[in-house]
Amino acid sequence: MHPVRAVPEPRRPHGRIHLAGGDSAPMGIGGAEGAVETGANAARNVAAASAAGRH
Ligand SMILES: Cc1cc2nc3c(=O)[nH]c(=O)nc-3n(C[C@H](O)[C@H](O)[C@H](O)COP(=O)(O)OP(=O)(O)OC[C@H]3O[C@@H](n4cnc5c(N)ncnc54)[C@H](O)[C@@H]3O)c2cc1C
Repeated sequence: MHPVRAVPEPRRPHGRIHLAGGDSAPMGIGGAEGAVETGANAARNVAAASAAGRH
């Protein structure tokens, strides 16, 4: 699959695994800003799942 079309897949959590990184950023793919943004999103999602008792 072309990498651009494959990108939404790693943005979704896979069970308890939350992926982040510059290569999966919706904006600025391959840049440090996207890496930070996806990292912050993943951290928020883990915290929310944890607070809801899902993790
Ligand atoms: C030469 C160069 C210049 C760049 N200049 C810019 C710039 O000016 N501005 C900009 O926005 N971006 C720039 N970038 C891109 C930027 O570096 C990346 O977008 C950013 O580092 C991505 O962050 P990341 O956390 O997704 O991945 P990474 O920074 O690659 O971090 C991944 C980490 O995971 C570790 N790792 C990998 N596999 C495993 C494993 N199996 N187990 C444990 N750890 C593992 C690696 O060692 C690494 O520390 C540049 C990149 C390069 C190569």
